[in-house]
Amino acid sequence: MREKRTKTSGHQHKKRFGQNFLNNPKIIDRIVAAIRPMSEQHLVEIGPGEAALTEPLLQVVRKLDIIEIDNDLIGPLTKRFGNMKAFNLHHHDALTFDYATLVENEEKPTAALRIVGNLPYNISSPLLFHLLEYSALIEDMHFMLQKEVVERMTASPGVKAYGRLSVMMQYACQAEYLFTVGPENFTPPPKVDSAIVRLVPYRSKPFQAKDDKTFADLVKQAFSQKRKTLRNNLKGWLTAEQIEACGIAPSDRAESIDIEGFVKLANFYQETL
Ligand code: SAM
Repeated sequence: MREKRTKTSGHQHKKRFGQNFLNNPKIIDRIVAAIRPMSEQHLVEIGPGEAALTEPLLQVVRKLDIIEIDNDLIGPLTKRFGNMKAFNLHHHDALTFDYATLVENEEKPTAALRIVGNLPYNISSPLLFHLLEYSALIEDMHFMLQKEVVERMTASPGVKAYGRLSVMMQYACQAEYLFTVGPENFTPPPKVDSAIVRLVPYRSKPFQAKDDKTFADLVKQAFSQKRKTLRNNLKGWLTAEQIEACGIAPSDRAESIDIEGFVKLANFYQETL
């Protein structure tokens, strides 16, 4: 099947790479202002496209590593910015990129990278989970995502949008919904509203599970069937008595449990292994 393309400024927009390019200078300014790039900082941009964010960032920061998958964008980006000292382009898939290589030769390897991007929405969840593996090296992240995804990432227990993504993001990061961006600010316009999120990985988590993998597995299991109670979803993991011993009602649903509650459940389960 032929790929759906829209032609505008010379580049063929590729749907498969989620290419919706920002076209409104006011919104671009607002995003850059939210990022607040500083001259001594090391930024990483995922998916530069036609450089709507890249250009203003390059003017400020010490170093900008850029990760772009589309071969057709590599030449134009290199031609335009190749002579700038801060510019460092990686033709790579952001989903499999090893972000640790970016700080290998830096003197201060901890909490240094500031990651930004107007992300391809079709890969946003796996990309966020991939980036969380590098959270020790990341100072903060600013992303444009589908509005509903940002609502899920920042939701509190008890609201409809609260789910596995909320728990996993908020376990590792402070997550803040910054502002909404309508489809008219992109070429071509996407079918959905977008929003900007700020994620700041905790240096020391407010609630620390004994084992992160067990925590992730338990959270996934607890949300496996949304309508079911914890007693049902955690069958074979924890008994009703064990759930109660964590101070949680077995008749509750996962959507009402906060991060602290999930950490208690995961730690109790860990003890039983
Ligand atoms: N930053 C530009 C802007 O705001 O106008 C472009 C944003 S566009 C929504 C997403 C960009 O991510 C495109 O340039 C696309 O080619 C790139 N992209 C898509 N999938 C990618 C991947 N797996 N790894 C790296 N870049 C990717």
